[in-house]
Amino acid sequence: MSEALDKYLQAGKIAARLKDEAPKIVKVGVSLLEVCQRFEELTIELGARPAFPVNIGMNEVTAHYTSPSEDPAVIPEGSLVKVDVGAHIDGYIADTAMTFAFSSVHEALVITAQEALRNAIDAMRPGVKISEVGAVVEKTMAMLGHKPIRNLMGHRIERYKLHTGKSIPNVSGLGVGRIQEGEVYAVEPFSTLHDAAGVVRDASQAFIFRYNKEKRLKSPDATALLEYVRREHRFLPFASRWLRGDSPISSFNLAFTELLESKCVLPYRVLVEASGQPVAQAEHTVIVEKNGCRIIT
Ligand code: MN
Ligand code: MN
Repeated sequence: MSEALDKYLQAGKIAARLKDEAPKIVKVGVSLLEVCQRFEELTIELGARPAFPVNIGMNEVTAHYTSPSEDPAVIPEGSLVKVDVGAHIDGYIADTAMTFAFSSVHEALVITAQEALRNAIDAMRPGVKISEVGAVVEKTMAMLGHKPIRNLMGHRIERYKLHTGKSIPNVSGLGVGRIQEGEVYAVEPFSTLHDAAGVVRDASQAFIFRYNKEKRLKSPDATALLEYVRREHRFLPFASRWLRGDSPISSFNLAFTELLESKCVLPYRVLVEASGQPVAQAEHTVIVEKNGCRIIT
């Protein structure tokens, strides 16, 4: 077995373990911050590193939410909660997500996302047009009375690159090229109600960021913070809550604002369903083999 494959499989096994543990962690009344931290700690305990901050999305909050360091929010009764986790070993990333319905009214949406994921993965084999996969997702969801989020996509993964090259659409009419043997993809359909807008829009908040470029900065605090980000988080996304350390919140915020204003660090804005409807997500990472996909998560 090649070293890369071995590391993908290890990362995948750890991501799958996180999913197994999830029902014990994700419960009504638990704070979102605790959920994020617990999964991130567990990733490290199991021998991997977080490939990105744990994303937790309530109801219409679809992606890119992670708790800030003093997040008071708890999981409310009746909510639909998406948890998206990533583990990497030496840059080989496994990306997976699950959804918990704490109300029976949302259970169908969860099943729809899971079915669409299963059918999409079944359709993916070498030579298949990527646009066909999107059509499968959309058709599966329509059959179950729901619709996909059309402006979110699955993505190709490479070492230390979470989103690279080709995207796997969740609707028909999008997607370029064909699936090829040896490629690694995160496949992630998002389902919403059939009368929803079916698109996400940017909210103003951001809690997940990425390193963009180096630049001479004014304050020594910002300079030191940028140096730290470049050293520790040059390739993969990070949370602002990962950076603060022992510094007081006011001086940290000042320094971090300078990184953002200089565009040395770029935000991933929180994405919400545009009509405020609940969204479910299912996601696996797969390796494309000769006769189909090997699910590693
Ligand atoms: Mn994910
Ligand atoms: Mn993903």
